[in-house]
Amino acid sequence: MNRLTLAIALFLFPYFAHAADPKTTMQQPAVAEALRFAQSNAEANIETQIHLCEIAAPEFHEEKRAAAVEELFKAAHLQNIHTDPAGNLIGDRPGKNPHPHIVIAAHLDTVFPEGTDVHVTRNGNVLKGPGIYDDCRGLAALVGVAQALDAGKVQTTGAITFVADTGEEGLGDLRGMKEFFRDKSIFPGVSCRASASMGVFRNENAAAHHFRDTEQQGKCSKSKSDIDAFISIDGPEPITDAITGGVGSYRLRLTYSGPGGHSFNAFGIANPIHALGRAIAKIDEIQTPETPRTTFNVGRIGGGTSVNTISSSAFAEIDMRSEESGALETTKAAVERAAQSALDEENARWHDHGKLTMKIDLLGYRPTGSTPSNSMLVDTVRGVNQAMGLSALTTSRQSTDSNFPMSLGIPSITLGAGGTGKDAHTVNETIDITDAWKGVQRLVLAVSTLAGW
Ligand SMILES: [Zn+2]
Repeated sequence: MNRLTLAIALFLFPYFAHAADPKTTMQQPAVAEALRFAQSNAEANIETQIHLCEIAAPEFHEEKRAAAVEELFKAAHLQNIHTDPAGNLIGDRPGKNPHPHIVIAAHLDTVFPEGTDVHVTRNGNVLKGPGIYDDCRGLAALVGVAQALDAGKVQTTGAITFVADTGEEGLGDLRGMKEFFRDKSIFPGVSCRASASMGVFRNENAAAHHFRDTEQQGKCSKSKSDIDAFISIDGPEPITDAITGGVGSYRLRLTYSGPGGHSFNAFGIANPIHALGRAIAKIDEIQTPETPRTTFNVGRIGGGTSVNTISSSAFAEIDMRSEESGALETTKAAVERAAQSALDEENARWHDHGKLTMKIDLLGYRPTGSTPSNSMLVDTVRGVNQAMGLSALTTSRQSTDSNFPMSLGIPSITLGAGGTGKDAHTVNETIDITDAWKGVQRLVLAVSTLAGW
């Protein structure tokens, strides 16, 4: 670490300069009691998981499940329990000091539409039901951590905030996280205005954009306390792993429109569906790097009224992902160029008769980001795995709630909640809950170590 990096690191993470280590933390009587509780409460925690999962929580309709979590937060004596404008349910566990401030979160929403049968069935240690793993297991673990800390009467140095958040899946577009981090300055004691100019220290421009936005909305004046570390608990992840990199994504809807007409009588005008065909053919030829892994997919197409009608519109929905923001931007630009040149070719082919127009809507954006493998946060989790006698920590990249705080430069990580899941995002989703309590123990030890004692 050179002197400049060290200076920046100390400026960014001053509260972790003397973080406790997991081995000593687990021997503290209160923490040891909390860890014992996590194990003895295993069966009740599974019942919580089933209970929460049988309350439907489709995208944008998470409120009923949030209300059930609220009761559990209250019983675990969290304070200042409230719901924010995005529907996030938030509860605090104050420490002796405001810092270090640790945030731990699990998402409420599922990919399943309204009306899906959310009944959970149990066969021995295997539970089956939509969302039972992703992220009902995470929600149960979130509640389980609050209950264990309460049972052990753990008094941490810093504060822990618990969040049951909204909009993690699909078109939710991380709206819960975006709202939660909206009015928080990322640098202790530094205003949002100054934070915006600090963006130059990081690779991502997202933070700068983000804070410019919040300034415009006048939100900075009610800046909440700063966050020193963020942990997302997300189902489909073994407890030997930690997600330390956020795969970013863009989701676009491309629409071509024109006058349309009868297939025989109006023949000779440009055709939106034909233009879309050209565009898809061009998108298919885009070359992306293997490292950083970068992908694209036309996932949905639509348009047209009948076989003998020149359609008046046609659309495609396109998803692009990358481990690195530069490659993501390059791919997005290539898709936009393909769309434009398909439009030009189609109009030229028909000599601008029934000239088409093009519209590209942004359906979603998840910024990329990462937390260095040698950071205090990842190191602590590595130590937790060691202290608990689990396999050595591996790290991976995914798209989760952590993407957003990562893009703001907040040390963030996504951890599993215990158990072994299969077929997430399908109605045949299952989880084997054998030793799932170890996921709760691991989180209890991680937050206790990070918050200090
Ligand atoms: Zn999830």
